[in-house]
Amino acid sequence: MKQHPITQAVRIQTSRTSEMEHSTPLFLTSSFCFENAEEMRAAFAGENENNIYSRFSNPTVQEFIDKMCVLEGTEAGFATSSGMSAIFGCFMAFLNSSDHLLSCKSIFGSTHTIVTKYLHRWKIDYSYADINKPETWESLIRPNTKMIYVETPTNPGLDIVDMEWLGKLAKKHGIILLVDNCFATPILQKPAEYGADLILHSATKWLDGQGRVLGGIVVGREDLINELYLFCRNTGPSLSPFNAWILSKSLETLDVRIHRHCDNAEALVKALDGHGKLNWIKYPFHPSHPMYEIARKQMTRGGGLVTFDLKGGVEGGKKFMDALQMLSLTSNLGDTRSIASHPASSTHSKLSREEQESVGITPGLIRISVGLEHADDIIADIVQALEKS
Ligand SMILES: *Cc1c(COP(=O)(O)O)cnc(C)c1O
Repeated sequence: MKQHPITQAVRIQTSRTSEMEHSTPLFLTSSFCFENAEEMRAAFAGENENNIYSRFSNPTVQEFIDKMCVLEGTEAGFATSSGMSAIFGCFMAFLNSSDHLLSCKSIFGSTHTIVTKYLHRWKIDYSYADINKPETWESLIRPNTKMIYVETPTNPGLDIVDMEWLGKLAKKHGIILLVDNCFATPILQKPAEYGADLILHSATKWLDGQGRVLGGIVVGREDLINELYLFCRNTGPSLSPFNAWILSKSLETLDVRIHRHCDNAEALVKALDGHGKLNWIKYPFHPSHPMYEIARKQMTRGGGLVTFDLKGGVEGGKKFMDALQMLSLTSNLGDTRSIASHPASSTHSKLSREEQESVGITPGLIRISVGLEHADDIIADIVQALEKS
């Protein structure tokens, strides 16, 4: 009987060793041995499945990949040392000089830096479409457009891209569709169902979920993953077996954690709705979200991130942050511990006002990564800090 992906995320395991351990073993080894010269020859010729070297493959890393493939509903995957090495690896493995990349401005800051500051070194061109004007995207596609890259929901704007529409557009033009599924996780949405060819994650966020390690992963079509694998095994962005062991254990609780994060986020949104210190509150499953219908169509729940705009602007944002007693002031997200960030005075402070505006950042924007503390405590801390904003 075929097991549910949630069961497989708990149960998939590398073969037990002779010790008969219950929990999964950790293969902290840089290389693997061969019985004889013939076996070694065959391994290097690609004629057997033997592991050779942990830059290429490792059983603990493979266990993490196998679980992610089951969760995302994809054929194959490759795990990387961070989300950024997954993203850069995909750009370098698939984009040739004179190719064109179509994306939009509201992508993760370091991704935006790679696209705007580095891709031109390899004569790779790009265009940014307006995430809120889907009707304009097709006109930006060129004969040399090789890849479409999006995040949904976006960071920190929480904008939503209609994946069914985008999947069809990419297919019509024969373009690789790559989706950064970091914010939703496969528990809330599976981009492969809408035609995404490749899906990537910063495993550092919800997949680890406990703020311990950096990691990344790309899953998707087998032919593309093979190409990515050949590129990465030579260029070296591979995930360490130790981090893979942490991440694989984390996937056993992913479903439970994500649902509790959503419960707490929903409780927070309800408590803050219409609060006198706020201009607005944004959450994919709140009816006021501009893409509410699309979010409902492609996500099972709204996720663990909530944003709101303080009437007090930049100064109000800083006062709010200073008044928090429990929430952590840190730039990470997707942790058991609730986190507040104020992009205008921190992560995005180097951008001009217009640039901030174009990626959905207002002076008083606060992003909350809702944790696993009791909802009452999360709400109480935020409400008392709002009074001082
Ligand atoms: C954090 C993040 C990344 C980068 O991942 P790292 O693991 O920090 O390298 C990429 N995309 C999104 C949406 C992120 O939130």
